[in-house]
Amino acid sequence: MSGEKKELYLGYTTDKAVTPFFQKFLEALEQEKLMMSRCPKCGTEYLPPRQHCQKDLEECELVEFTEREAKLHSYVIVDFAPESLTSRAPYVVAIGEFPSGKKLTAHITNLMSMPEIGMTLKLAFDRIDEKKITYKWLV
Ligand SMILES: [Zn+2]
Repeated sequence: MSGEKKELYLGYTTDKAVTPFFQKFLEALEQEKLMMSRCPKCGTEYLPPRQHCQKDLEECELVEFTEREAKLHSYVIVDFAPESLTSRAPYVVAIGEFPSGKKLTAHITNLMSMPEIGMTLKLAFDRIDEKKITYKWLV
């Protein structure tokens, strides 16, 4: 194994996009825009975006998701991280619920105490290096 980190849990490697759809998602993320997808046929929305609707397999379109504050819905404290994240363990993976009801999973990176269900989470973007970008929660 080389020293290259192949996996970035909950993050995105911007030079490895496999589809134009995902490429577009990454380009938006680089501009600190989070995209969701919407099915033009039935209107179902997906966050993070899915290219194809789960209900009717229609091709979804990307739409900017603009909500930035969520409430902590649930979380897990990860003591044993995958190899690429061992230097960050233990860390907290949290599901935040936006006012619209949409939920998003991301790391909370600046917790100073135990998380509390219902606490406010702010969505933020994190450039890990030139090629890697992710989103995260701040408390
Ligand atoms: Zn649909």
